Amino acid sequence: MSQLRDIKSLIAQMTLEEKASMCSGADTWHTRGIKRLGIPSVMVTDGPHGLRKQSTSADHLGLFDSVPATCFPSAAGVASSWNRNLIRRMGEALGRECQAEEVAVLLGPGVNIKRSPLCGRNFEYFSEDPYLTSEMAAHHIQGVQSQGVGTSLKHFAANNQEHRRMTSDSIVDERSLREIYLASFEGAVKQAQPWTVMCAYNKVNGEFASENKELLTDILKDEWGHEGFVVSDWGAVNDRVKGLAAGLELEMPTSHGEGERQIVEAVRSGELTEATLDAAVDRLLTIVFRAVDSRRSDTVVDYEEHHQLAREIARESMVLLKNEDDILPLSKEGKIAVIGAMAKEPRFQGSGSSQIRPTRLEDISEELTKSAGGMAELRYAKGYELNGEVPDEELIAEAIQIAIESDIAVLFAGLPSRYESEGFDRKHLRMPANQVALIEAIGKAQPNLVVVLSNGAPVEMPWLGSAKGVLEAYLGGQALGGAIADLLFGDANPSGRLAETFPVQLSDNPSYLFFPGEGNKVDYREGIFVGYRYYDKKNITPLFPFGHGLSYTTFSYSELTVDKKTLKDTDTLSVKVKVTNAGSRAGMEVVQLYVRDKESSVIRPDKELKGFDKISLEPGESKFAAFELDKRSFAYYNDEACEWTVETGEYELLIGRSSQEIVFSEQVTVESTRASGMVFHRNSTLSEISQIASGEKFVNQLIANLPFSSGLADEHKAMLRAFMEHMPLRGLISFSGGKFTEAGLSAILLQLNDQEADKR
Ligand code: BGC
Repeated sequence: MSQLRDIKSLIAQMTLEEKASMCSGADTWHTRGIKRLGIPSVMVTDGPHGLRKQSTSADHLGLFDSVPATCFPSAAGVASSWNRNLIRRMGEALGRECQAEEVAVLLGPGVNIKRSPLCGRNFEYFSEDPYLTSEMAAHHIQGVQSQGVGTSLKHFAANNQEHRRMTSDSIVDERSLREIYLASFEGAVKQAQPWTVMCAYNKVNGEFASENKELLTDILKDEWGHEGFVVSDWGAVNDRVKGLAAGLELEMPTSHGEGERQIVEAVRSGELTEATLDAAVDRLLTIVFRAVDSRRSDTVVDYEEHHQLAREIARESMVLLKNEDDILPLSKEGKIAVIGAMAKEPRFQGSGSSQIRPTRLEDISEELTKSAGGMAELRYAKGYELNGEVPDEELIAEAIQIAIESDIAVLFAGLPSRYESEGFDRKHLRMPANQVALIEAIGKAQPNLVVVLSNGAPVEMPWLGSAKGVLEAYLGGQALGGAIADLLFGDANPSGRLAETFPVQLSDNPSYLFFPGEGNKVDYREGIFVGYRYYDKKNITPLFPFGHGLSYTTFSYSELTVDKKTLKDTDTLSVKVKVTNAGSRAGMEVVQLYVRDKESSVIRPDKELKGFDKISLEPGESKFAAFELDKRSFAYYNDEACEWTVETGEYELLIGRSSQEIVFSEQVTVESTRASGMVFHRNSTLSEISQIASGEKFVNQLIANLPFSSGLADEHKAMLRAFMEHMPLRGLISFSGGKFTEAGLSAILLQLNDQEADKR
């Protein structure tokens, strides 16, 4: 190891001021370098689905121009591909573009859970489900980092709204935090080791994320083993010294000397130990040198190839929501009306810090014409003003005329960029009134209507009955036009599946009553019941469920097998199911595996996603989808014991085409290896004692000994049992007619606790 790479000795040569200076940015996008020690400055920049390297000076909200880069579909879409390998390839391409521009760390991916469809930044996040989110994120990270470029997993944590994002306090109970909001980060950190993690602006349970020791050190570093450094979201630092002590290594952007001054003073006054500062600098330098050592200055990017990749990803990211009468795919012959301003001015990316300058942008109507290959006649009508809300009768009349004269109408609609953005949340899920009026009017004039939507998050669709086909194109990136054309004409078969629930109406959403909170506080009162976990349990039929997406072919399922029917919670379980393409077109199926705990002592969702596999099948071909389940697949977070716990019992494995369309199920028994750890006391209930081995028998005896038990009819015995179910042990003293005494109670407790202690 060279002198320069010997980080410990480098730190030993640094002055206190130099060390402190490393902990704040040099400007908006660069870390601080130290010339005399040969410590370089490196560039970090947005992210996540394209490179936003600003050519001129700094602003982080996307207002100034940046170098041209490939704009891939945003996360809401990419997650709908459910394709790990595809997002990995996207990451590789992003990494190459970063190398070509000498960018060390690309700021993303964002893995905040979609608690409410109103969150203005949902387009940048993957899903309402933590498992799907962490799988997509891990493969995104692996792809970028395989090119020697770092990532920044963001925004850690519980940053699920834009409203008051810099001051709001997310109040989340421990179990929901662990099972939902942290789990998306946990999986990505453990699987892919992002070089950096970006802490969020908001507070979490009363403490700013930027100075939350429990999050940044206890959980992220100590429990999950994160090896890189934590960077603040831009401007998220509240108290620099407290932040450093909590585990926030880098403050971004520069605070123009403020942060370092405070750190120096704190070390001098003894408020902060120099060892804490050294540890932070160690983590920073490790990554800075890793970036420098990984630099591939000869990287040449083939932007045309990346554009084609963007098209492929966009194709897999789009979800066919409805296809009545097999209205799609379109025939390449006849007359097609192409309606809607968005066909010419596509909405292809979201607004804010992720907004990039694409290398090129496809015009949807031109791509449709190209794909039709001169055989079909395509005519265009604008239909609505993109910047307006009020229906324009003239534009509608013109569109109706063209629709009537055509065999089919394809209408492009969605959310204009003013509706959703980083920095603010939506107030409702409606589309602009002029677009809704147009859809309804065209639906009346031309029953063969297909609507193509461009939006970053769910919309309400009161007009759904007017359209036979609906394609959710999300924010499809710069190659969305070609991708839409491929799917509409059947040159590609839709294979996207929703990574979020589309509710019928906003008020159906579980966070509805509590979003975005009061003042600076937002209570996550729906707890673990986020997304489909809630709709399932409450039996609320959504407009389109989590996991839903149609195809032009059909798939049949058979031969569900497990490698064991009984397992310990320390074992892994292999599950396989055979899938056959029963239709006449090649296609891809997303096989989803949900787990249901059949009986639980804690409140649990009806089912939770624990595996998925995307497989590609030619007509008539069969393949096995395969899954590996482990302890976490069956566990809940036990907030009393502060650990993941699996209860002994039966679990159902549900193979689904969506969260609502379960095609197969199998049952396994999982045995907990956890010492019960139970300690009984006077107020332990009979039901608690029943849970331990031979407890049931013991409780039955206790009840049988009660004076009023003798001679009871069976029916009354059952009633007595139910009545006594949650009786504390001490209650027996009052109800035993003197048979059960304090001394007897002490003896029973001794016996039970000895028995339990032996097990440990
Ligand atoms: C955003 C981050 C982004 C950063 C730098 C912040 O406002 O929340 O996601 O990476 O700016 O642009």
